[in-house]
Amino acid sequence: MGSSWSSLRETKTRYSKRMSQVFESKKESEGAIVVAIEPVSATPTSEPAPPAPSPKTNGEGTTTTDTETATETTTQNASSNTSIPTSIEAPTPTLRETTHIAIIGGGIIGLITALGLLHRGIRVTVYERASKLTETSAGFSFSSGARQAMSHTSPRVREALRNVAAPNPYPFIRYFDGFTPGVEDPLWQIPAERPDYHGCLRAAFLEALGSEVRSAGDEGVIRFGMSLEGYEELSEEEGGKVRLTFGDGTVVEVDAVIGCDGIKSRTRQIMLGEDDPAALPGFTHMVAYRAVIPLDAVVAAMGEDKGYSHCLHVGPGAYTVTYPIANNTLSNMILFCKTTTPWPDANKLLASCLRSTAQEAISTWKPDIRSLIALLPETPSKWAMFDMSSHPAKSYTRGRVCVAGDAAHASTPFLASGAAMGVEDAAVLSTVLETALARPATGSAGEKSAAISAAFRAFSARRIERSQMVVRYSREVGEMCMWQDEEVGRDPEQCFQGIWRRYSDVWEFDVQEMVEGARRDCIALFEGGEKGSS
Ligand SMILES: Cc1cc2nc3c(=O)[nH]c(=O)nc-3n(C[C@H](O)[C@H](O)[C@H](O)COP(=O)(O)OP(=O)(O)OC[C@H]3O[C@@H](n4cnc5c(N)ncnc54)[C@H](O)[C@@H]3O)c2cc1C
Repeated sequence: MGSSWSSLRETKTRYSKRMSQVFESKKESEGAIVVAIEPVSATPTSEPAPPAPSPKTNGEGTTTTDTETATETTTQNASSNTSIPTSIEAPTPTLRETTHIAIIGGGIIGLITALGLLHRGIRVTVYERASKLTETSAGFSFSSGARQAMSHTSPRVREALRNVAAPNPYPFIRYFDGFTPGVEDPLWQIPAERPDYHGCLRAAFLEALGSEVRSAGDEGVIRFGMSLEGYEELSEEEGGKVRLTFGDGTVVEVDAVIGCDGIKSRTRQIMLGEDDPAALPGFTHMVAYRAVIPLDAVVAAMGEDKGYSHCLHVGPGAYTVTYPIANNTLSNMILFCKTTTPWPDANKLLASCLRSTAQEAISTWKPDIRSLIALLPETPSKWAMFDMSSHPAKSYTRGRVCVAGDAAHASTPFLASGAAMGVEDAAVLSTVLETALARPATGSAGEKSAAISAAFRAFSARRIERSQMVVRYSREVGEMCMWQDEEVGRDPEQCFQGIWRRYSDVWEFDVQEMVEGARRDCIALFEGGEKGSS
C-alpha cells in the first residue's frame, strides 16, 4: 500500500466529528477511505468579479426572410432614424453592436451561453426545436468550479442557480459495496467539500434560466418550434452571413451560429460532415434508470444514514446513486447498468420499460438496494448512455459556426460534469466573442467574419483537450464503479485511486486562467499569430 494511500487513511479522523453531528445515530465506519480536504490552490475559492455589463442592444444587420423578425428590424430602424439628432455625428459602432448570433438549442447550455452574450451586449436569438423549455424531472449537481464558470459567464446565471439550488448538506460522498454480503462499511468516501456540489431539479433550473434570458434579451429572444435542418455560410460577396434553414421552412440569416443542440447535434453533423465518425455519438452499452422519489420512501428502504446522504452502491455490472434534493423532500435516484444488448433506435435515447427489467439487474444484490429499486415507478424511463468517447470531434468549429455543450463533447454522467463542461464552454465563448467584437465596425463583412472565426478557433483550442478528457474519464469511472475495469476489478483501493485521480483532474482547475488564456489566444489569432489555432 503506497504512502499516499496511508496518508489518505490517516486523515479520516478529521471528519469523524462532523460526520457524527450529521448522522447522530451512526458511528463512522471503520475501514472507510477518506480524502484530505486541503484547499485546492489552483481553484480560486472566491467568486470572480463579473464582467461589467454592456448596454443592451437590439442589433442590426440581420437579413431575414422570417417575417416576424424582418418587421421588428424595420420598426427599430425607423425609430432610431427619428431619435438621433442629425447635427451630431453618431459614434462609430463596434462589431459587437452590429452582430447577431443564433444559438441552436434552448437546453441549459444554450440558455447559459445566451446569457453570457447578452451580458456583453451581443444580440442573440435562441432557436429551440420544442414548443417550450423542456427538461426531465431529474436532479443536477454543480461543483464549485462549475459555479465559478457560471459567474464568469453572467451574474444572471448564478442568480438562476441560486434561486433553485441548495448546497449539499452532508459531509461525504460515500461508496458502499451494494453486492457482497457482510461488507457494510463504506469502501471509501470523498469529502463533499471538494466538489462542493449544489443540487437542483433540472426543470427548475432551466425555467429560471429561461426567465433570465427573457428579461435580458429582446422580444422573441427564444423562438420555439424551430428545428434546425441545414445551414450554409455565404461568401463575402453574398454578404458574409450564415443562412439557417428550419424544419418549418423558415430561413434566417445571422452573423454566426453556436450549436447547443445536444448529443445528437444537427449543427455538429453539418459542420463536420455526415461521414465524419464524430458526427454521431456511440452507444456505451450502459443504461440508466432514473427517478425522483419522496425522500421518506428512500429512508424507509435504506435507513436514515444513507437516505439523507450522497451514496453510491457499486457492484457487478451496475451501481446506484442516491442523494437528497428539493430541501430534503425528494431523493434523486439513478441505477446505472451495463448491457450487452444493442440499443434499438439511436434516434430515441429514452425508452419506457418495466420496473422488473431494472430489478433483474440487481436481483442478487443486498436487500436495501433491492428495496430501493423497488421504489421505481412501475414503468420507469430507461436512458441509453451514448457519448463521444470513441470518436471525439477534432475541432469544435468551422468558419463562423461552432458547437458547445453536449453538441461538442457529449459525455456519460459518471463524473457528474457533462453540463459543467458546457458551462465552461459558455464562459470561454462569451469572453472570446466579447474580445473579438470589440473592434470598430468598418462595414466590411470580411472583418467581422475574421473576428468571429478567430474567436471560435480560440474557443475550440482552449476547450478541446479538457472537455474530451472528461468524456474519457467519465466512461472509465463508470466501468470502475460497475467492476468492469479489468485491471482494477473489485479492489476498493485501486478503484478509489482510479476514481479520485480523475475527479481531482476535473475539480482542480483554474477557470480564470482558462478564460484569460482564451482571450489572449483570440487576440493573437486575430492579429495573425499562430497561437491557439486548432
Ligand atoms: C443521468 C444523467 C445525469 C447527469 N447529471 C449531471 C450532473 O449532475 N452535473 C452535470 O454537470 N452534468 C450532468 N449530466 C450531463 C448533462 O445532463 C448534460 O451535459 C447537459 O444537460 C447538456 O446540456 P445541453 O444544453 O448541451 O444539451 P441538451 O440538454 O440536450 O439541450 C439541447 C437542446 O437543443 C434542442 N435541439 C436539439 N436539436 C435541435 C435542432 N435541430 N434545432 C433546434 N433545437 C434543437 C433540444 O430540444 C434541447 O432543448 C447528466 C447527464 C445524465 C444523462
